Amino acid sequence: MQEKKRRQFIKQATGLGVLGLAAAGGIWVAKDFKPEISRLRPPGAVEEKKYLTMCIKCGQCLQVCPYDAIKLEDIDGKAGIGTAYIDPLERGCYLCEAFPCVLACPTGALDHESNVIENVHMGMAIVVNESACLALEGTKVTQEMIGRIYDHTAVISESERHNRKVVPNDNDPEKVMLQKTLLQKLSDQEGKSCSLCADLCPFTPDPSAAIGMVDKNGGLFPEIRDACVGCGACVELCPTKVLQILPHATYAEVYKKKKGTKNA
Ligand code: SF4
Ligand code: SF4
Ligand code: SF4
Repeated sequence: MQEKKRRQFIKQATGLGVLGLAAAGGIWVAKDFKPEISRLRPPGAVEEKKYLTMCIKCGQCLQVCPYDAIKLEDIDGKAGIGTAYIDPLERGCYLCEAFPCVLACPTGALDHESNVIENVHMGMAIVVNESACLALEGTKVTQEMIGRIYDHTAVISESERHNRKVVPNDNDPEKVMLQKTLLQKLSDQEGKSCSLCADLCPFTPDPSAAIGMVDKNGGLFPEIRDACVGCGACVELCPTKVLQILPHATYAEVYKKKKGTKNA
């Protein structure tokens, strides 16, 4: 996709004092958009009210998720005790090709029509802490920055965790292989200027339709684009918590074109 270079400044008014960037031509600003729900649900989750009645808390989606991205809400949780959710600050969804979580859901709380990327819409990424972005100053990715992701990856060995290096093995089950591959991609970024969010965005076939790095104040900065599905991988991978997901929000709800700006 031919992208025009553009800078977008967004004031997002979710009560978080959010600043964000948006794409798709001209300067875009965030609307005064307040999400009705605070929990990010797995791919294919139906509208929240319906979801709360349809999710029978069986944990089938959680069992089949190869990235260990899905949790069940506990008694102190934010919404719907026992229902399935994703906390992207801990582990995002990596948009598995066949969406096993969706297929495993016995009730349709995760809509079976949503087992292809075109039909998945979990939410929309936003920038919540612009000044913390390492790309603005060209700060390089260190082992320490990616270490927390090694630390919360349960399927690797203690020595792999300690050495911050995974050793793929032909006998590894698919789940282990997938998570090791993610860690390898992360480790490959060590010593490079941070653009982890854009470089590891799992949106297919073209991650740059969902996020890309653009010039800003002499450095770079992530630009959220309209194909973003709100999977939250970028939220997990960002070392400085620059990004968050507005669950169920659409690009059009969160971003609007500023008056007087040119169309792309
Ligand atoms: S698409 Fe894959 S990584 Fe994402 S929640 Fe479903 S099973 Fe987990
Ligand atoms: S920018 Fe990419 S990684 Fe981030 S939420 Fe959107 S699709 Fe997922
Ligand atoms: S992951 Fe993206 S948002 Fe986070 S510091 Fe790096 S470039 Fe900035």
